[in-house]
Amino acid sequence: MLLTITSSTKPASDLGFLLHKHPARVQEFSLPFGRGHVFYPRASEEQTTAALLVEIDPVSLVRRYGRGSILNDYVNDRPFVASSFMSVAIARVFGSALRGKSDERSDLVDQPMSLTARLAVVASFHGEGALRRLFEPIGYRVTAVAHPLNERFASWGESPYYTLSLEADVPLKELLGHLYVLLPVLDGVKHYWVDESEIDKLLRAGEGWLGAHPERDTIVRRYLKSQRSLTDEALDRLLAEDGSRGEGPTGDGADDGDSPTPLNRLRMSAVVEQLAQAGASRILDVGCGEGRLIGELLKDQSVTHVAGMDVSIAALQRAARRLKLDEMSHRQRDRVSLMQGSLTYRDRRLAGFDAAAVIEVIEHLDPWQLAPFEQVLFGDARPGTVIVTTPNSEYNVEYNRLGDGSHRHLDHRFEWSRAEFSGWAQAICHRHGYRVDLHGIGAEAPGLGSPTQMGVFRADGTTAESR
Ligand code: SAH
Repeated sequence: MLLTITSSTKPASDLGFLLHKHPARVQEFSLPFGRGHVFYPRASEEQTTAALLVEIDPVSLVRRYGRGSILNDYVNDRPFVASSFMSVAIARVFGSALRGKSDERSDLVDQPMSLTARLAVVASFHGEGALRRLFEPIGYRVTAVAHPLNERFASWGESPYYTLSLEADVPLKELLGHLYVLLPVLDGVKHYWVDESEIDKLLRAGEGWLGAHPERDTIVRRYLKSQRSLTDEALDRLLAEDGSRGEGPTGDGADDGDSPTPLNRLRMSAVVEQLAQAGASRILDVGCGEGRLIGELLKDQSVTHVAGMDVSIAALQRAARRLKLDEMSHRQRDRVSLMQGSLTYRDRRLAGFDAAAVIEVIEHLDPWQLAPFEQVLFGDARPGTVIVTTPNSEYNVEYNRLGDGSHRHLDHRFEWSRAEFSGWAQAICHRHGYRVDLHGIGAEAPGLGSPTQMGVFRADGTTAESR
């Protein structure tokens, strides 16, 4: 399997210092599963390419680990597909560069360089889309060339194998960290190594980007090969680190763009402020996810109770851990409740609140579920104040990769323009006796509005029937 890394930042020969490998030499390294070779097909001031060629001996692997455990047979794709073996090779051969150490040129370590990583073959069983979902949110231009199953018989269709190019202006250590974590995620095949020490390695290599990656949970689960206890611990630790940055859980990665203040945090404070202005003391957070808003609201002593509801048990479990419900005093613990349920079903537990927050949730509903949602919240539960936030699709062109009409998050069923959101909000007011004020959250782009839109609905004491 072959990885090449090309730098076009002059003097491009700096790449040799950072990798701790001299461009004029061919070097060979022994690996637990074969051999690694490093050489430079090109080395000039304009452009320098380093190649890591990893040779795997599949026969000895099968002998060592047994059939059926890692390798089903002597004939398999392990020798050429960049997988967890490539990750291990990166860590062994380019370990200092991965950890951001350079004895000779420590000034270069944090410098973004114009880099292209090319992997001759990766396996992506969920197609090109999965490659893009992993690498685009962290800033790569992705080129994937699919290979047919059989060159002569086009009708056999495409194989899961791609040649992958990733281009970005990033420090080399970040590029290596991204590859180190994401190559084993792409590859469906079991690693021969997964134990607790992997959590530390994952968190170290994922520092600064994994916490806010929209595919974070999938990445962690697949990196740790679905070993539940390891995955839970890793996510807990990521969330703990994450909390201080205010990014996170579903953290719609693209949301954060280049803005100095992550959009998540701006959104949270706009919502908290509106709830305080409304004087709400009993607050319902529907689609509470991992409980970030709940945590913020509990800081305000005039809030007597916050109830979080979500359809996802896993999200609620994470909310409980994140909020440390187990460690709370009785008095604190009584201020919070978490419940599982769907906002598309009538539910008595939703009644009796001063205010409800529906933060970045409606776009996760199928369009046909909006009518039952509207009835459940505005028709039946009827809190005095309802705050709804959702992406403003007009702003998407500002996120380069979304100029093509795609959504900010994989699970979004729709994203609305300001006019669409306003139309929906006005119709709700008309049908259920509310008034709405619409606001933008985040820096406005001329003609496009802000990245997030927020509707603050207030019950005006009438219903459609009474008017
Ligand atoms: N409000 C949170 C989470 C937003 S992500 C925050 O801002 O951080 C959207 C959340 O809505 C997810 O946790 C998802 O599980 C939840 N959700 C999606 N459909 C739902 C439904 N029908 N009922 C309740 N929750 C739902």
